[in-house]
Amino acid sequence: MANPKHALRDGDALLIVDVQNDFCPGGALAIAGGDGVVPVLNRWIEAAREAGIAIYASRDWHPAGHLSFVDEGGPWPPHCLQDTEGAAFHSGLMLPSDTIVVTKGARFDQDQYSAFDQTGLEARLGRDGVRRLWVGGLAEDVCVRATVLGALAHGFEVVVIEDATRPVTPEGGEEARREMAAAGAGFQTTD
Ligand SMILES: [Zn+2]
Repeated sequence: MANPKHALRDGDALLIVDVQNDFCPGGALAIAGGDGVVPVLNRWIEAAREAGIAIYASRDWHPAGHLSFVDEGGPWPPHCLQDTEGAAFHSGLMLPSDTIVVTKGARFDQDQYSAFDQTGLEARLGRDGVRRLWVGGLAEDVCVRATVLGALAHGFEVVVIEDATRPVTPEGGEEARREMAAAGAGFQTTD
C-alpha cells in the first residue's frame, strides 16, 4: 500500500495513460469500470501537485480512417478521433493546466500503444530529471502495459498503481501484470 502524500519523492513523476472518454463507460471502446480510475488518480494528482511532482498524461489521438480501426483491417472500433469528445480526457480527471500531454496514435502508417513509442518522451523525462514513474490509466493490458515496458526499457524505475488501472479483459490484465513484473515493474495499491 502506498499513501500518495508520502510515496512521492524527488525524481518521481506521475504518468497517466489514456484516461479518455472513449475508454470509459459510454465511450466507443469502453473498458469495464474504466472511469473507476479517475478518483484514485485524482488523489495522486493532488499529492503530486502539493509535492511539486510533474504530471504527464498520454492520449490516443487518431486521424479518421486510422489503420487500427476495424474498417481498415485493424483490431479496434473507431475511437479517440482527434478533436472529438471521445478523445477528450475524462472530465472528472483533475489534470492541472501545466500537465505535459503526450500525443500518440496520430501516425498514418502505424499504431502506438506505448507513450514511449517514437514520442521522445524519454528525452523529456530525462531533461526533467525524472527517474521513477508512477503509472496508471487505461487499458492495463494494452497501452499501460506497453508504456510500462517502454519506460523500463529506457531505464526508468516504474511503479504501477494497481487500483488506478483497468484491463480490457481480466485474463489480459493478469498476463500484463506478469509481463510487467517480469520486466521489473513494482506494484502498489493506493492507501
Ligand atoms: Zn487507439
